[in-house]
Amino acid sequence: MQDRFLVTGGAGYVGSHLVALLAERGAKVVVLDNLRQGHRAAVPAGVRLIEGDASNVEALDAVLAEGPWTAVFHFAALSLVGESMRDPMRYLLENAAGGMRLIDACVRHNLKKFILSSTANLFGEPERVPIDEAARIDPSSPYGESKLMIERTLRWADQVHGLRSACLRYFNAAGADPNGVLGEDHDPETHLIPLVIDAALGRSGAITVFGTDYPTADGTCVRDYVHVTDLGEAHLCALGQLDRQSVTYNLGNGSGHSVRDVIASVERVLGRPVSLRFGERRPGDPAALVASSALIRAETGWTPRYAALDAIVASAAAWRVAHPNGYGDRAPAERAPTVLADRPALPDRTAA
Ligand code: UDP
Repeated sequence: MQDRFLVTGGAGYVGSHLVALLAERGAKVVVLDNLRQGHRAAVPAGVRLIEGDASNVEALDAVLAEGPWTAVFHFAALSLVGESMRDPMRYLLENAAGGMRLIDACVRHNLKKFILSSTANLFGEPERVPIDEAARIDPSSPYGESKLMIERTLRWADQVHGLRSACLRYFNAAGADPNGVLGEDHDPETHLIPLVIDAALGRSGAITVFGTDYPTADGTCVRDYVHVTDLGEAHLCALGQLDRQSVTYNLGNGSGHSVRDVIASVERVLGRPVSLRFGERRPGDPAALVASSALIRAETGWTPRYAALDAIVASAAAWRVAHPNGYGDRAPAERAPTVLADRPALPDRTAA
């Protein structure tokens, strides 16, 4: 029987790269995405897009009733560490409570497999790097906390209801589809690699380095950048495990690159200098997050194809050069209201 997958957030950055892989393999895919961060143009022809929130119980019941489903992939989420430090309740309500509603709906509709986009941010300031799956959990932001709450909910959904799950803790998703069709288009863009590329291309001013006094070799934050297509492949590897058991995997390349390393890589790849300024630390940022992905490699044979930082940066740069306006599908003023738009705005406590 043809595999059928529901992908929440499948029009977003990481989700769309997985959807492309699933569609290439001949699966039937339905994307549920509210298009707040996602893009209609990122959903391939032949894949049905339902515009709606992944926490909307009516929308979920309607689509899940169309089963049987092989699995649900859950990408839809708010995902900015800094923003979550300013508005934690929004992150906990939308991500954690919203994710719990989705899991509840999956249980009620008797789904058996669930794959979660989780995050390295739930490790907080790690005791040692590389970070394996047994490392101490201590989220450094409400964003990480919200993902942890979903992970914990999934444990009970498995234990009590038999919903098997894969919790995939991404380190820093980066790069773009090697076919040049999909890429990173956030509004606003806050991620380091696209911002440095824009600075090198002269599309923005100097890049601000957030903190130069971290306990790292050059004083700037160290991250493990992992190519978004490799992440997509890891989802397929993890799915294969769910016939036997639930799994949790850390996903990275196992090599740490500082903010300065990323800037140097962009300069090498584009052959252009990047101007810098040095700013304060960004609240919620741990000094160094580097993955041990030994477990998924050993259990599934997952092998990242685009492990080198320059390869990741080159694919991101190629997409950004070819798509100066990203998917070009919306002006900032046209962005849809948030689910919790009726909540009054909170003061920005971290900005003082
Ligand atoms: N960063 C920076 N300047 C920027 C954006 C990011 O110095 O304009 C740093 C940030 O503090 C972090 C790293 O780059 O250490 C990666 O940040 P990003 O937002 O890309 O991903 P995150 O680590 O938050 O998932």
